[in-house]
Amino acid sequence: MSQIPLVDLKAAHAEVADEVRAGFDRVLANTAFVGGEEVREFEREYAEFGGVAHCVGVANGTDALELALRARGVGVGDEVVLPANTFIATAGAVARIGARPVLVDCLPDTLLIDPRLALKAVTGATRAIVPVHLYGQSAAVEDLLAELPAGVAVVEDGAQSQGASRHGRTPGSGGVAATSFYPGKNLGAYGDAGAVLTDDEELAGLVRALANHGGVAKYRHDVAGFNSRLDGLQAVVLRAKLARLAEGNAARRTAAAHYGTLLADLAAAGEVALPVTAEGNIPVWHLYVVRIAGGGEEAAARRDEVVARLNAAGIGAGVHYPAAVHLTPAFAHLGHRRGDFPQAEDAADRMLSLPLFPQITTDQQQRVVDALVDALH
Ligand SMILES: *Cc1c(COP(=O)(O)O)cnc(C)c1O
Repeated sequence: MSQIPLVDLKAAHAEVADEVRAGFDRVLANTAFVGGEEVREFEREYAEFGGVAHCVGVANGTDALELALRARGVGVGDEVVLPANTFIATAGAVARIGARPVLVDCLPDTLLIDPRLALKAVTGATRAIVPVHLYGQSAAVEDLLAELPAGVAVVEDGAQSQGASRHGRTPGSGGVAATSFYPGKNLGAYGDAGAVLTDDEELAGLVRALANHGGVAKYRHDVAGFNSRLDGLQAVVLRAKLARLAEGNAARRTAAAHYGTLLADLAAAGEVALPVTAEGNIPVWHLYVVRIAGGGEEAAARRDEVVARLNAAGIGAGVHYPAAVHLTPAFAHLGHRRGDFPQAEDAADRMLSLPLFPQITTDQQQRVVDALVDALH
C-alpha cells in the first residue's frame, strides 16, 4: 500500500509546477538571483497576506529570529525568555547572539508558552520574550503585552503559524515576528528562506540593513551586519505557493476536524489526548499533535514504539519534539534537569504528530487512524 508522508511536498509541488518553471525562466532571463523584482513582489504580497505593513525576506527562519532580536536591541549577556517546548532553533537564535535563553514551561492543554510564567521569569537583564506559535496556533501575546515591563520586547516566533490569527490579530502586527519558509512549513520554499514581519518601518529598515552587510544604501554601512538575504528563485516558489496558502490552511483545518471525529473513540477511552485550540485562535495546523496515555520515560518508550509501528505501516508519523530544549545536550549548560519544566517534559514524552497536509484525503486519514489503533493495541 502507498506511503502516507507526514507532509506531502510532491503533491504541493504538482499544484504549482508550471508557475514555478515559468517563474524560474523569468529569473534566469533577468539574472536577479539575490533580491530583485520577484523578492520585492513576494515581500509585498506576504506582508499583505500576513496583515502587517512590512515583510523583509531573509535566508532562513533562524536568521529571521536572530535579526529581529538584534533589531530590538538584544545583545551579548542579555536574557531572552522562551518556551522549553519549541523547536531548538528558537533557543539557537538567542545563543548565537551571545544572549542567554531563559526557559519557561508551557500550558498543559495547548502546549504553548505559559504567559504567566514568562512574565515571572523577567529579570533586570531580560530584553525580550519569544512566544512561539507552535503547531500553527498563536500563543497569548496579548497577555504578555498587557503586563510587559519597560525595556522588554516581544519577538514572536511565527515559523509554524503562517496565516494564523488570535482574536483577529496576526503574528507581528503591532510588534515583530519571525517566520521560516523551510520546505516543510505551511508556506515552504525549495530550499531555505525566512522573513521578518512588522508594522514598524524603522525596525524593518534596520533588519533589512543588518541582513545585507549592514548596508542602509549601496556601500553605506552604518552598522556591522550579516549576509542573510532571500533569493529570486525562492521568491518565485513562495509567490506561487502563497497564492494557495489560505486555501491550503483551510484544507488543513478541515482535515484536523476530521481527525477529531475519527479519533473521538480513542480520546473518549483516554488512550490519546487530542490537540486543544485556545479560544479566539484560528489555527493553521502546521502539525497535528496527539499525546498517548501514561507518563514519564515509560510513556516515551511506548510512544517511540507506536511511531515505529506507524512508520513500518507506511505512515510518516513524527515527534515534535522528542526532547524539551533544556534536556538537549546543546543546552545542558543552562543547568536544568528533568523535573524543571514538567509540562514540556510530559508533552515530549507522550506526543506524536500524525500526517497532515492540505491534500490529505479522508481515505488516507482513515488509514492513519486504523494504523494508530493497531499500533496502540
Ligand atoms: C522551522 C522553525 C524555526 C527555524 O526555521 P529555519 O528556517 O529552519 O531556520 C524556528 N522556530 C520554529 C518554531 C520552527 O518551527
